[in-house]
Amino acid sequence: MTDQRVGFCGLGTMGAAMAANLRRSGFSLTVWNRTPGRAADLVAAGASEAATPGAAAAASDVVVVCVSDTPDVEAVLFGPDGVTVGAAAGTLIIDCSTISPSATRDYAARLATGGVAMIDAPVSGGSEGAVKATLSIMVGGDADDVERARPILSAMGTSVTHMGPIGSGQATKAVNQVILCGAYLGVAEGLVLAMRAGLDPERVVAALSGGAAQSWVLANRSGRMIADEYPLGFKLALHLKDVHIALGMAEDLDLALPVTALAARFEEQLMAEGHGDEDVSSLARAIRSGIEG
Ligand code: NAP
Repeated sequence: MTDQRVGFCGLGTMGAAMAANLRRSGFSLTVWNRTPGRAADLVAAGASEAATPGAAAAASDVVVVCVSDTPDVEAVLFGPDGVTVGAAAGTLIIDCSTISPSATRDYAARLATGGVAMIDAPVSGGSEGAVKATLSIMVGGDADDVERARPILSAMGTSVTHMGPIGSGQATKAVNQVILCGAYLGVAEGLVLAMRAGLDPERVVAALSGGAAQSWVLANRSGRMIADEYPLGFKLALHLKDVHIALGMAEDLDLALPVTALAARFEEQLMAEGHGDEDVSSLARAIRSGIEG
């Protein structure tokens, strides 16, 4: 259904690549980014650039949002020049940011008063997945809205799973981030053990990659951990934001998540040491420091 005009707000690591895939799939696209200068490639590919989120919404039937954190989505939707200023009744918002499930439910209710629908559609698969349009997308919202969004989501990802009502995509993404805490820490610990034991870590990765220890993190982030260099990727600061969302959910459920809590402590320490803008695989720094220690 490429006749839906799509707006896209937030052209960061993820958003710029996801918007490019929408354009590549033939969608009519109007883009906006807070900091100017990030839309040039998209405009060259045939997208229009809007001056505000409201202007992007006014030119669109469906608006995708992909910004950093919960208050940032609120600003883009409800700020002075926000999406709600321009969105006509019947507009559908697809929020691909990773934010709080409860705030998501609140935003959807506020939008509904103006006849604007919203689904939450956080993504997983890293910057590589955004570029290759192979993201896994976890969706919450009304079934009709999800079906309306499906052609757009399918242009950005290979797996689109409707999890249930609004907010359940974000809850599923929190589960994803909890699992990743263990995956990053496990791969880092294994590699540090390998190096301390005098094994060639790259041969270890090759040897394990067809076995039970294989994972996305082992395949895609072990090289960074071995080199002790952590280019983006996915910012550690953003992962910590997601970890806090998951820990907040667990607290509401009176549930302990000890591995996630440990990862949060390491990430807070790494943030304090100035590593927040590195890829989240820099969690390995916390384990690697034991090599010298
Ligand atoms: P990023 O590269 O840091 O980009 C963040 C984007 O959000 C930029 O376009 C930024 O605009 C915009 N933004 C932030 N605060 C804003 C505000 N208050 N008002 C308007 N725009 C604002 O982040 P990213 O990696 O693309 O991540 C975007 C979302 O996807 C996050 O929720 C993240 O958790 C999620 N995610 C990321 C990955 C990944 O591997 N990177 C994977 C899955 C999910 P400026 O250019 O003006 O700063």
